[in-house]
Amino acid sequence: METAVSVDAALGFALPRRHARGRLVRLGPALEEILSAHDYPAPIARLLAEALVLTAMLGATLKHAGGQLTMQAQTEAGIVDLLVADYKGGALRGYVRFDPERLAEQPGQPSLFSLFGKGYLAITFDQALTAERYQGIVPLEGGSLAEAVEHFFVQSEQIPSLVRVAVDDGGRVAGGLLLQHLPEGEEGRERLHTRLDHPEWAHVRIIGETVRAGELADPGLPLETLLWRLFHDEEEVRLLSAVPLEKGCRCSLEHVRGVIARFSPEERAEMVDERGTISVDCEFCSRIFPIRLDDLDA
Ligand SMILES: [Zn+2]
Repeated sequence: METAVSVDAALGFALPRRHARGRLVRLGPALEEILSAHDYPAPIARLLAEALVLTAMLGATLKHAGGQLTMQAQTEAGIVDLLVADYKGGALRGYVRFDPERLAEQPGQPSLFSLFGKGYLAITFDQALTAERYQGIVPLEGGSLAEAVEHFFVQSEQIPSLVRVAVDDGGRVAGGLLLQHLPEGEEGRERLHTRLDHPEWAHVRIIGETVRAGELADPGLPLETLLWRLFHDEEEVRLLSAVPLEKGCRCSLEHVRGVIARFSPEERAEMVDERGTISVDCEFCSRIFPIRLDDLDA
């Protein structure tokens, strides 16, 4: 790797002697661009920033570039009604639907429980080549989204994992660390051999826990430098892929037109403005698509 990356990248690495692998992610300008499409109050922007880091971290583990990872939080009676973030080939996007009035009643950064109530986090892996789809669902419990994702790996996947995410005070830079223990001789052997108290894993986890929020969300600290700072005592740290991250949306006029076409003529008549146009905006990127009713009928 010739140049050190500090922002908008996911860096994969492995600690072969410890049977561990990991990802470091940091978002800067890409995060700012995604947030600038919305006018979210600080607590909601922070939540989306955390979700985007986690989405990038998991998305970068997909085997093929065409795969997609989607993280969706659904709630019952929370301030947040829906949170969606997805990743495809390094492109990230996301949005949050929430109740601004109930949020305004909360002082400071609301707890995960006030935001989500009784919520669930669904993580969906779509592998491109095999068209294989896998979805895991965990309750949104604990102190943060990162904690819920850690539970997802440990409980549903039986993979000892450490997940840390930090957002800087301004809410415009965010970073994260994912560490995972690979069962010895993963290929061809049962996952049952994975033990949470494996001494190698205990060691890796202890080191991972020393990472500070200020380091994860420091846009001036190259990811390689942070990796070295954490694991310089290890016999071998292998750098894997560095995936560039960017804001990306896959909305299109054709898709929006298709959605509107499915409404009945009566329903469409209610949506149309005085100029004969239905305006539909993409929830991810806030782009507005004006659909002319005449075009639909043609
Ligand atoms: Zn869009």
